[in-house]
Amino acid sequence: MAVTEQRKAGLDVERIRADFPILSRTVGDKPLVYLDSAATSQKPRAVIDAEREFYERHNANVHRGIYMLSEEATELYEEARVKLASFIGATDPATVIFNRGTTESINAIAHGWGRKFLKEGDEILLTDMEHHSNIVPWQLAARATGATLRYLPITDDGLIDLSTLESSLTDRTKVFAVTGMSNSLGTLTPVHLLADAAHAVGAVLVVDGAQLVPHVPVDVRVLDCDFLTISGHKMLGPTASGGFYAKRELLEEMDPFIGGGHMIHEVYREYSTWNDVPGKFEGGTMNIAQEVGLAAAVDYLQALGMQNVRAHEEEIAAYAIERLQDAGARIVGPVDVSKRGGAVSFVYRDVHPHDVATVLNEEGIAVRAGHHCNQLVMRRFNVAATTRASFYVYNTRREVDALVNALGKADDVFGA
Ligand code: PLP
Repeated sequence: MAVTEQRKAGLDVERIRADFPILSRTVGDKPLVYLDSAATSQKPRAVIDAEREFYERHNANVHRGIYMLSEEATELYEEARVKLASFIGATDPATVIFNRGTTESINAIAHGWGRKFLKEGDEILLTDMEHHSNIVPWQLAARATGATLRYLPITDDGLIDLSTLESSLTDRTKVFAVTGMSNSLGTLTPVHLLADAAHAVGAVLVVDGAQLVPHVPVDVRVLDCDFLTISGHKMLGPTASGGFYAKRELLEEMDPFIGGGHMIHEVYREYSTWNDVPGKFEGGTMNIAQEVGLAAAVDYLQALGMQNVRAHEEEIAAYAIERLQDAGARIVGPVDVSKRGGAVSFVYRDVHPHDVATVLNEEGIAVRAGHHCNQLVMRRFNVAATTRASFYVYNTRREVDALVNALGKADDVFGA
């Protein structure tokens, strides 16, 4: 089917499923129902093939050799940068830095920008719905610089409490770091509005895009964020792929995070000068094959159409929330699907989430149970853990039915 036809028709999920070899696996005698894409997504054959073909035909280090293979590898690696930049609306590919994903990116930003520009008396504003990856690097930067951490609270229905925004963002705020979509609550945050508010007090806006970029059409020109992190492994790409986008002037002024080969211009005994952007941030041998694989994932998502991806997830999240609530589960996070994505956390009666996940696994269903690296969220909602079912392009209503039916087995086992 031509891409334009496919867009008009929405997602052909059965056809998509056929592209993912792992989805034909069984767990015991049960078909695998994979509902943990917020942790990591599965990979289509096109991505697996791109990575294999890289190793079979083009493998060499990049930006080093003046021989054919190295030139081919460099071309593929830089082409991946161009594709990823275009996927998020960045007009200058050099503003996309490759690394292992969001955790490494936020550490690079908190280290390279935070430690250089923060000082005592400055404030770093976060929210209570951040993943530990968007808390701990800022705690380290605060400790190193004397800056102070502040947090926006969460409302009862799982949104950022914007009533405190004005009083929390002041001329002392130098960084506002916020998730684009919560991995535990599923909440979509109003990034553009937050960027305007941050800029009005002279702060930079760092967006944790780990869950946003894979699921929603993203254009950094529209969002006007200063930094946006990208987790390739959550958007059909290989593990340890992705990186971050930043406005060019920020990349120019901040420090590198990792020192070593390629990231330098000249090295003297006492000091070094830095390579141009993006090389300044890509020290050592990079995750070349993974970024080449990510380029194939970008092609795949673009052929589906990100509007279609979003529409499919809204539809399946709405169905899952309705069925889970009917079955007696309490949703932790917004129930209005216009304000959320496809990561649906719930508490099922009095059954511990680990027990729920164990029973579901016996039915072939893979979900995540725990605090989801969101301990502040768990405390806010007074739960030790939740069960999380998270959906992506390959999930069906049938799989939601399987989830809800399997929950009934938890009743049998734990007498809920
Ligand atoms: N931020 C959020 C919201 C996430 O969901 C995750 C992964 O679960 C991360 C950060 C960490 O991302 P990565 O695995 O790319 O380091």
